Formats: sequence, C-alpha cells, structure tokens
Amino acid sequence: MNISAVQNYNIAALQLKQQAQTPKVQQNKTFAYVTSPIERPFATYPAGYVPYQINFEGGDYQKLPQILKLKSLKNLPCIYCGTKMIPSSVYYDLQFANNKVGRTVTEFINAIKPSVLSLDDAGKNIYKTIENIAKEKPDAKVGTYLDKIAEKTEVPNFMKKLAERDLTTKEYTQRIIEIISPYEEGLMPVEKALFKEIKIANAGETKKSLQDIMNDLRGLTIDILNKKQNKVIADIETTAHQELRGATKGKVLDITRRAKELLKDDASSGQFKRKDFIKDIKRIKTSNTREQNVINNLVKIAEQTPNSEQDLGAFVAKYSCKLNKNSSLEAKQRSNEEIAQRLINPSIASVEHIRPQETYKNIRITHTVPKDNIANLSLAHRSCNSERDNLSLAQYIHQKPEVKSFIQKHVDFVSDAIKKGELTGMDDYPQQLKTAYEEGSHGAIKITLPSDK
Ligand SMILES: [Zn+2]
Repeated sequence: MNISAVQNYNIAALQLKQQAQTPKVQQNKTFAYVTSPIERPFATYPAGYVPYQINFEGGDYQKLPQILKLKSLKNLPCIYCGTKMIPSSVYYDLQFANNKVGRTVTEFINAIKPSVLSLDDAGKNIYKTIENIAKEKPDAKVGTYLDKIAEKTEVPNFMKKLAERDLTTKEYTQRIIEIISPYEEGLMPVEKALFKEIKIANAGETKKSLQDIMNDLRGLTIDILNKKQNKVIADIETTAHQELRGATKGKVLDITRRAKELLKDDASSGQFKRKDFIKDIKRIKTSNTREQNVINNLVKIAEQTPNSEQDLGAFVAKYSCKLNKNSSLEAKQRSNEEIAQRLINPSIASVEHIRPQETYKNIRITHTVPKDNIANLSLAHRSCNSERDNLSLAQYIHQKPEVKSFIQKHVDFVSDAIKKGELTGMDDYPQQLKTAYEEGSHGAIKITLPSDK
C-alpha cells in the first residue's frame, strides 16, 4: 500500500514532537464542529432551535429561491476560504448510494440453480428463459426481463426478490469513490488525504470496505496519535504538579490517569474521547481564584488534543475500530455511510448569516435587513461557517485578515456568473453582499464591484 499521506502525517508529527516542551496555550477559541445530520438528526434539537450549521430541510431560508440558485452554481468558491464547495445533493447521493442493486441474469441463474428441480413447470420455464438470455448477455439486469415475463405469466415472489440484492460493502467503496471524485479538489486537507488513501487501498486486487480501510490505516497512524495525545496529558500533569495543591490537583490527576488508561489500545474499559476529556477538566470548580485560573489554562492545553477536523490520525481513530483483544465488548465502529458522508461534510455549501444570528437575539440592535433575507446570506463551507460561529465580522477579520481576499473572490465569481447568464434574477446580489460585508465590518472589508472599476 502506498502510504504517502500517512508518511506525511508521521513525519509532521515527529517534527511536532521536537518542538519546545513547554505547554503552549492556544489563543484561538475552539469551535464546536457540528457533526453530520446522521449523528445529530434535526429532531433531536429542542423545538425552535435552529442548528444553522446543519443543512436541515425544515428551515425556510434553505428553500429561498436565491439560495437554491447560488447552490446550483458549479465551482462556487467558499466566501471565507476561496476553495470550491460541494453541493449538499452529493451528501444525499452518498446516503442513497447504498441502495439495492439489480442482479445480473447470471447472478440470478446461479442463485436459483441449486433448487431448480423443486420448481413447478411455470417456474422452470422462467428459469430456462433467463438461462438463455444469460448465454447471450451474461451481464444484463434480470429485473427488466422479469417485468416482461410478469406481463404474461405470474412470477413467483422469491424470484422477484432475487431481481435485487444489497450492494456489498466493497462495491460501496467503489461507488463512493465514483461519487466523490469529481469533487475531490473541494475536500478539506485531512479528508482529501484520506480520500487518496481510500483510492489507493481500493486500487489493489483485494477490495475492502471503508471500515476495513480505516482499520488498516489505524495501524499506521495510532502510535503517532497516541504520542500527541500523551504529550498533552503530560503537559497538563506538569502544570498541575507545579501550580495546584490538594483536592484540585487530585481531580486533575484522576482525569489524566483515566485518559492514559483509555489510550492503551488493549484497554477494556472504553475509548479515549477528546470531547469528554476536555469536558471533565472544564467541570473542575474551585473557590480559589488563582487555582481556577490554572484550571482554565489546563482546559486550553486539553483543547490541543488532536481532533478529527485537523488531524489525520485523529480522524482515523474516530472512524476505525479499537483492537480490543481483552474485551468481550465489541467496540462500535461508524458505518460505511457515516465514514463516506463525513469525508465531504465539512466541504458542503451551507447558508452563512453575514450579520451573525446571535446579534438578532439582541433586541437593542436594530437591523435594516431581516436575519434570513438574501441580503444577509451567503454560502460558505460548513467547516468555515462553524469556525466563524457567532464572531462579528470585525472580530473575524481581525483574526483572519486573509478572509478579505476570499470574500472579494466570491463576489467576483457571483458577478461573473450574472454576466454569463448562469445566475438570473439576482442582479442586486453583488451589491447586497458588498453592503452587508462593508457595513457589518464597519469598513474593515472593502469590496470592489465590476461597476466600481
Ligand atoms: Zn471555506
């Protein structure tokens, strides 16, 4: 197996290890990356709460004709990073890619052969008809022929059922490769590297399911990932020993001890989860202000634990199965569909509120544009959308000044699409984007329209 991406991962990790031993405090805020609708169906949200990162079907603004028009533009770059977005329809293609497939006439004959003598005369006739077709066209789908036969004589139910079969998990790998390939360029870095690995694995003689491919990759990446995770744990312990006393220190060390236990690949008591680890440290409360500040600092260190959005090994670990030799409990692995959908999920075009939704909750701010009006909406990757979260444009631009050029690129693309006649009935939209971004950022963002040139 070609392990280029994995090798890169391991080399990068080794370089990381050589960096200074002192714990770095992450200044950036962490963001809650909203997982796929499969993991978090819309129905599980409280009534009235709109999880805007999710491309759910119920929201009106998702069905705005202008949004649908923008989504139908090919190669529209994300407004915050400038790379291509993947249409949400691809997400559903992956979901339905696992539907049944039509059996060929040859497969049909082979399935019936062992019991052909027990068929009645009508059944034997049908069998013979299909057998003759198989001699001429062995790969023809049996379903269409059975339909024709059914017009004249009754086809037994068990034969109708044999017209289709489930896609094998290995065939599903091939199909998701076909579906994702045209959009490969728009994948996020970790997902793109993994998609390459999947294609390499599938190019060999032995075909594998996505789950098996993930499990193979786990063997190649888990040691480095564990080193990174253990480094974070060690940093936390060092700080705890230096800065904390008594019960608070004990609580921290209990959490790190448990984490180290879970990280052992043969640990029988479960799997290390980044989210739980951070949550456990966050939960420690003390009335001592100085110690509470140390705990807050420890949370920031814990947030440096690699996550599946930014770290190939962490992605593989999350979507593979822990080799648990000592436990009777089978660790549960994400399904092939979930793995496939997760690959494209961060790259999908989602509806972005230019003036953050949060500001609309503040009744003291008067808005000239309604929250879900096209004049306040643009399209951004789900991941970029989550990353900005509820930051004001001024804060966001301050953190990521390079975003300005991507907004301009997006506006240029839209203006060009209008000029070419690919986007109709939205002649005002570039001006609306300009107004929203310039006003929303109090002038920090400047956009040039074709008419300004
Ligand atoms: Zn983006």
